[in-house]
Amino acid sequence: MAMHADHARFIYNIALEQRSLWTPAKRYSPHKITYNTQARELTELRKDTDWLRAGSTVVQQGALRDLDIAFKRFFARQGSYPQFKSAMSGKDGFAIRDVSLRRINRKWALILIPKVGWVRFRLSYPWAEAKAATSARATFRAGLWHVSLTTPPRAKVFANTGRVVGIDRGVKNTVATNEGNLDTIPGFSTGEQARFLALERKLATQTKGSNRRQGTLKALATLRGKLSNRRTDWVEQNTTSLARSYDLAVLENLQISNMTRKPKPKKDPEKAGAYLPNGAAAKAGLNRVILASCWGMFATRLEQKMNVIKVSPVNTSRECRLCHHVSPKNRKSQAVFECESCGHEEHADINAAKNILNRALSTPTRGHSGARAKKPASTPIKHLQAAQAA
Ligand SMILES: [Zn+2]
Repeated sequence: MAMHADHARFIYNIALEQRSLWTPAKRYSPHKITYNTQARELTELRKDTDWLRAGSTVVQQGALRDLDIAFKRFFARQGSYPQFKSAMSGKDGFAIRDVSLRRINRKWALILIPKVGWVRFRLSYPWAEAKAATSARATFRAGLWHVSLTTPPRAKVFANTGRVVGIDRGVKNTVATNEGNLDTIPGFSTGEQARFLALERKLATQTKGSNRRQGTLKALATLRGKLSNRRTDWVEQNTTSLARSYDLAVLENLQISNMTRKPKPKKDPEKAGAYLPNGAAAKAGLNRVILASCWGMFATRLEQKMNVIKVSPVNTSRECRLCHHVSPKNRKSQAVFECESCGHEEHADINAAKNILNRALSTPTRGHSGARAKKPASTPIKHLQAAQAA
């Protein structure tokens, strides 16, 4: 498999070099470089090169197809210009076309790798989904081989209950709904956390490329994998259950990449060259939690499973859902919301979830300082009607 990865990288890189030499000046030459021309040249190359011939045609053609896809994405402005691959990138691997899978039991299955044979792998999602895979990719990361399967997107679920749910995504409660359901994504156990930190400390003292370091990386990858599987399961279960219970979900339009960006350093106006504290450390701590909370994954999966609309996140946690008074002082603590104006008391996350729902249902004229909706509210209403009609 390491040889396959070497060959895939080699073919990808020379094919990228060939395509990069295709300058605008040569555009009118009859020999346009495409997947087909490169695949023909690969056949010729294999005839003359013993070591390439020893490898798998399927894997090597797969690398050309990967490059072709990368260029198509680039020309469609969906991606940046293809980059040369390096063995040290941490995602070295190869594509597998014509996936053949066999089930061993609930946890294990086999995949047919060209020239290698059947390779056992651990299932991280249900077999029913895995067996529908149309393509696969094997990658070598942190000392372990991984196989990722591409499956066709599942159809949306139509609950047909006529119900709409507002969802607040938070740090303490990963998910809070307007109906008062609170749920937290699982994390590391105390023991796992200690082990993880100990391994990270150990890694810092080990020589790069040493066998011991490889071992530590492998142990870290196993722990990360455990956590990631646990979280993926949680997201899958929660989003499925929401899609089965409601016709429409309303989420805040969170820009997670903005929220996780490091804050800019603030210059001290009184001292040249000095900087004011800007809460970078506090934000960095929160960033990790936000990322760890998998909000993005939650939203993506939810949108794949049901109709979702997104509303402005401005002040959802500071606004009273009854009198619409907005103040940071309304929020007495992480959990307690108490309106300074009307005295309304509620769990802070549930108050936020209700605001989120209201924003989708209210029109801009009835809007308030918090509802800084850029698009008219007709969009959410239309969605709602469409959802109810469905
Ligand atoms: Zn109030």
